[in-house]
Amino acid sequence: MKGNNNLILNISLFTLLIVLPLFAAENNQLCKVFHHGSQDNQVLSDCNAVLEVGKVVFYFTKEPKIELVSEKQLDNQKKQIIFSFSSAIIKSDEYTRVLQALQRIKPLNYTLALKQVKQGLQFSISYNPSKVEIVYDTCDLINLYKGAVFTFYSKELLEKIKEEGKPLIRMVSNEIKPHVIIDCGHGGSDIGTVGYNNLKEKDITLQIGLKVAQLLKKNGFDVQLTRDCDIFMPLDQRTICNANPNKAVFVSIHANASENINASGIETFCLSPPLLRQCFKTMDEYNSRILEYMVCEQFKKSNKLATFLHQHVITCAHQKNSYVRNRHVKYAVSQVLLGAVVPSALVELGFLSNKYEATLLQNTEYQEALATGICSGILAYFNSLNSLS
Ligand SMILES: [Zn+2]
Repeated sequence: MKGNNNLILNISLFTLLIVLPLFAAENNQLCKVFHHGSQDNQVLSDCNAVLEVGKVVFYFTKEPKIELVSEKQLDNQKKQIIFSFSSAIIKSDEYTRVLQALQRIKPLNYTLALKQVKQGLQFSISYNPSKVEIVYDTCDLINLYKGAVFTFYSKELLEKIKEEGKPLIRMVSNEIKPHVIIDCGHGGSDIGTVGYNNLKEKDITLQIGLKVAQLLKKNGFDVQLTRDCDIFMPLDQRTICNANPNKAVFVSIHANASENINASGIETFCLSPPLLRQCFKTMDEYNSRILEYMVCEQFKKSNKLATFLHQHVITCAHQKNSYVRNRHVKYAVSQVLLGAVVPSALVELGFLSNKYEATLLQNTEYQEALATGICSGILAYFNSLNSLS
């Protein structure tokens, strides 16, 4: 797109009307922004939740090009760093929503701003470099979008770990009740997918989620539901968790849909490790080694959780109906998984767009079987941790 401005000045209005839509088609549109932050960064020094103090994910229609525009020292010990997403645009009606997403969480040691300039979008971060370390990269998201991820780490904590040679992952005594966050996907104005016979995803996820919570409580778990009725819950609020990350998990419940009405089956997602590892490219070697280790631990646990969860859900589903298709565990990035600071997995329990599966998912006995599968998968995960300690 460089040099196009001069060209446009010299062409007639007629050509302008034809050429502009073509240029517009080349633009990369910013669709939404997700900002997840931690208010409290002075708790335990060996806790993942505290090391990562915030994260911003930009959702684009195409892979964004992140360029460092400038870095300057501000007077109050703060630094300002400006990045550009070249050729990226944001529709004016989306602008307010995006700015609100950036401002809703008030992080302690950094502030964020976004503006449209001639060359694209400019994203600026003002932060205290003695408190915050920034890493960033692009990524593939679970849906049609491409992402740009900026993660903020606690610099103080990184330094402390370096000085004291503290072990990064502390073994937690078994007396603490395991904490499970059950996320009933969608809700309120966000209805999720709509399937056969107008069946809404938000209703199915709530019905099954409530059954899972009941079963987990009976099994001695400390359960947190992201919603227990038909209300809208922003994605960044779903992942808020004050529990010890070594003794907690996050499970998000969803149902699928496809244009192919024959598509069916159950699949489970967890975050992709290569993507997470990419985030460390811009860090110095020592810090990137520490983070790599922590991410690997987190990934191993999420992968283990997803594997147990999937195995048990499939087994229980097959007890009710042997035709249910096993679509296996898959790696991908989704907004809720990115936001979760504890091991996390997302399970898609079937296709609402498939007439047969939609009917099955409304059946109480089948819902109970799926809930039993989710609960026993979580139980198996925690048992496997205990057998290691
Ligand atoms: Zn969903």
